[in-house]
Amino acid sequence: MTSYLFFQTTTTQDEDPFDTVRDFFDSGVWLAVRNVALFFLVVFWLASAYWVYKDARRRIEDPWLLAMAVALGIFPPFIGPLLYMLFRPPEYVEDVRERELEIKAMEESLDTSDRCPVCRAAIDPSFLACPVCTTKLKDSCRRCKAPLEPLWQMCPYCETPVESPRAVENL
Ligand SMILES: [Zn+2]
Ligand SMILES: [Zn+2]
Repeated sequence: MTSYLFFQTTTTQDEDPFDTVRDFFDSGVWLAVRNVALFFLVVFWLASAYWVYKDARRRIEDPWLLAMAVALGIFPPFIGPLLYMLFRPPEYVEDVRERELEIKAMEESLDTSDRCPVCRAAIDPSFLACPVCTTKLKDSCRRCKAPLEPLWQMCPYCETPVESPRAVENL
């Protein structure tokens, strides 16, 4: 209020061409504009800090690192969030988890034996050949035609000894 009065007296004493400019800066309009600008600056500062908190929560699991990221989002104002954006983890935690689950599921599907080794089509353990790519999967018992595992020396269903294809040819 004192500065306001001071400017008022000086402007009345000498006829300055910048009177109108000074009047403007002394007026309530200038104060209001400055206050609104400050208000928006503070709002933007808080919003940027909150954005950092929200974003960091999705990207960082470690609580200490998360606290550090939030502190950086608050101070220094505006520069902190920019620094955070440069150094934040590139992926969301849930995306990393999802990818890990996908990889695990893929490994499991590769491990399972009920898939054709050639075309990966789902096959039943009783199949002798892949119905999709016609790859021969198992030999059948020459007596009961049951599908035989490669290591079996005898058919478990009819007790017929398993003979190698070469031996069968020689008969
Ligand atoms: Zn196949
Ligand atoms: Zn058999």
